[in-house]
Amino acid sequence: MADSVADATAALTDDGCVPLAGGTWIMRASIRGEAQSRRYVGIGRIPELNTIDVKDGEIRLGACVTHARLVESFAGLAQWNGLAAAAGAAANPAVREMATVGGNLSTQDFFAADLPPALLSLDAAVELVRPGGTERLSVGRYLDVRRTLEPGALMTSIVLPRRPMRTGHARLPLRKAGDYPVAIVSMAAVLSSDGRVDVIRIAVGSVEPAAGRWTELEEKLLGRPLDPDTAHEMAEATADTFTGRDSVEAPGWYRVKVLPALVRRATQAVLSSR
Ligand SMILES: Cc1cc2nc3c(=O)[nH]c(=O)nc-3n(C[C@H](O)[C@H](O)[C@H](O)COP(=O)(O)OP(=O)(O)OC[C@H]3O[C@@H](n4cnc5c(N)ncnc54)[C@H](O)[C@@H]3O)c2cc1C
Repeated sequence: MADSVADATAALTDDGCVPLAGGTWIMRASIRGEAQSRRYVGIGRIPELNTIDVKDGEIRLGACVTHARLVESFAGLAQWNGLAAAAGAAANPAVREMATVGGNLSTQDFFAADLPPALLSLDAAVELVRPGGTERLSVGRYLDVRRTLEPGALMTSIVLPRRPMRTGHARLPLRKAGDYPVAIVSMAAVLSSDGRVDVIRIAVGSVEPAAGRWTELEEKLLGRPLDPDTAHEMAEATADTFTGRDSVEAPGWYRVKVLPALVRRATQAVLSSR
């Protein structure tokens, strides 16, 4: 167990040594038929990785803030409803008490994670400590490079810009609880006084191997009044930009097919979040 970021990064420079945050993904490696790493560095007790720092223009979440704390801290606040819904719907209560935001963003080969689309829709960034210094990357960039980070790299925080956005998160599990979602849509929007879309971010998770923005739909909705029927119709017109991944839980075509319905639900969530 490391006591400080410096302790952790020093230990992590040893090749084959990886961070252990909540452990909820790592502990199930053998169930997935994966080998365990040779050594782990526990980062969950490092104080700065557990703080939530609210500033004028941004909020910094320590990478070890848990899903349960996200719900506790952000539910009911218009800009953060989507993030709270994503954290609160993931997994089950016991896992949410342990699983961290940094772990959720860093887990490789897990395609149904809830927080990546929610954080993409918020234009969030991550801060990394790397052997050469500290670096800030967009969440999208981090998802692209996380597999190739050198030994010694550690995500220390997630930075959320504060803007007057309304947000929503819609996910479709096959069962009501305890199931990975077939598809996820996260939405964040700034609306003008007459209800038109000034700024919109829509992100999709679980459909393709990596979460990503749905920019074709964002462009179609920009400048229009935001309403669930229009959003559903535009989503149907642009959903063919996705290639759904086949898996034992659901075929790829089904993941794409349900997207317009999730866009409708995310739009309703955005409109009702104040
Ligand atoms: C029963 C069950 C149901 C689940 N359902 C859902 C669900 O519905 N939605 C969902 O999104 N997730 C779900 N999960 C997955 C779970 O949310 C993730 O496993 C969890 O978010 C990972 O966080 P952790 O802190 O436990 O990570 P760990 O298991 O500690 O680590 C996961 C990976 O991230 C790396 N890592 C962790 N922290 C950092 C860091 N700060 N910097 C760099 N690398 C780091 C680790 O080295 C490891 O590779 C479920 C898990 C279980 C067990």
